Amino acid sequence: MTDHTPNSWDARADAHSFYGFTDLPTIHERGTVVLTHGDGPYIFDVEGKKYLDANSGLWNMVAGFNHPGLTEAAKAQYDKFPGYHAFFGRMTDQTVMLSEKLIEVSPFQTGKVFYTNSGSEANDTLVKMLWFLARAEGKPERRKILTRMNGYHGVTAVSASMTGKPYNALFGLPFDGFIHLTCPHFWREGMAGESEAQFTSRLAHELEDVIRREGAETIAGFVAEPVIGAGGVIPPPAGYFQAIQAVLAKHNIPLIADEVICGFGRTGNVWGAQTYDFVPDAIISSKALTAGYFPMGAVILGPDLADRLQVASEMVEEFPHGFTASGHPVGCAIALKSIDIILNDGLLDAVRDLTPRFESGLAELAQHPHIGEARSKGLMGALEAVADKPTKAPFAADLSVSERIANACTDNGLICRPLGQAIVLCPPFIMTDAQMDEMFDKLHTALGQVFADIT
Ligand SMILES: *Cc1c(COP(=O)(O)O)cnc(C)c1O
Repeated sequence: MTDHTPNSWDARADAHSFYGFTDLPTIHERGTVVLTHGDGPYIFDVEGKKYLDANSGLWNMVAGFNHPGLTEAAKAQYDKFPGYHAFFGRMTDQTVMLSEKLIEVSPFQTGKVFYTNSGSEANDTLVKMLWFLARAEGKPERRKILTRMNGYHGVTAVSASMTGKPYNALFGLPFDGFIHLTCPHFWREGMAGESEAQFTSRLAHELEDVIRREGAETIAGFVAEPVIGAGGVIPPPAGYFQAIQAVLAKHNIPLIADEVICGFGRTGNVWGAQTYDFVPDAIISSKALTAGYFPMGAVILGPDLADRLQVASEMVEEFPHGFTASGHPVGCAIALKSIDIILNDGLLDAVRDLTPRFESGLAELAQHPHIGEARSKGLMGALEAVADKPTKAPFAADLSVSERIANACTDNGLICRPLGQAIVLCPPFIMTDAQMDEMFDKLHTALGQVFADIT
């Protein structure tokens, strides 16, 4: 148990660290888990307690917490050139090489990459690019951004406006012109008697209606995660991206894939867009881009947007945007290594090999009378708790059912994440079968404990 005495790590964390996305009553009751190091998929706290991290940190630490290739790549680059920017016509060799690599592994024949320090900044950058382009092309009214409810795109003011979560109202967001369409979650949003194909077609019609209502000439882009991640691991219904892309193409609206979670292997292919068989106009990347070993995001523009943005920038001599650490050489060196490890060192194969075991473990837990849905793609999955399976009625919110399950797991040495009434699992790609068993055994125990307590 956490040590709450004065001057303990827990008390010190609480005294001067301001928590984000942390349930404060839980912290007051349970304290902060202060971590010191990791080994493979495990992390260790200041008291030496070991936890299997079934969430890969925050989806990103896909190669585990002490991959020698990645730490060596970082050390070597720190020794050689520990930092430089990408402004004023200068950039590092690592930056040049990473852009080449990203286009090579992208679905695009050609294109261009712009670097940020996070996924949120990459989404902000993308929106600024679309706005800049619209004005340069004489269409200043083309500013609205379409996303989906429960889609997660980040926390900066623009990316929070794109995110379809109710908590953004606490900030007076979204900004005007950010429109959220129906969440493509068939289990929850499908109507009585509606087939999956009918659901997909309803969502495509909704998009068509919104475009007509708003005016196609006012819409700058549609941004979507191939699988909604932080909104609850929601794979799209069959045919969704084909149906959506047909509508967007008709109105010349670009489709941008926010691949911050799906990118670099999570769904069993390099890109989630490959898994769902569509080619977007641009890709947003972060998280596994550096396997979590450096903060970095990237906007990867396909040929059409890259060319038009080039022309628009030349009209005013520059694209006036960039972050001090954009294209940081250490981040780029790590990303190059990370991509190499994922593609050539068996990590992507491991996702494919582990997926059947992951799916069967989830399916087994879905037998539980209070698990309403198990959903997954590749190595991202969620178990949705329900009070009543036939009606899908949720538990009363004040029961905090998913928090309790996650807390019982933490006590038992397993990190997993509560999300609404679901538990999210996104293990690192280096997990062994034995560690998969450990993950599901611990989760099984926690579900039994918590449901016995509250029902
Ligand atoms: C995490 C996430 C972001 C935001 O990335 P940050 O690095 O936390 O700013 C954006 N989009 C998706 C899909 C994400 O999962």
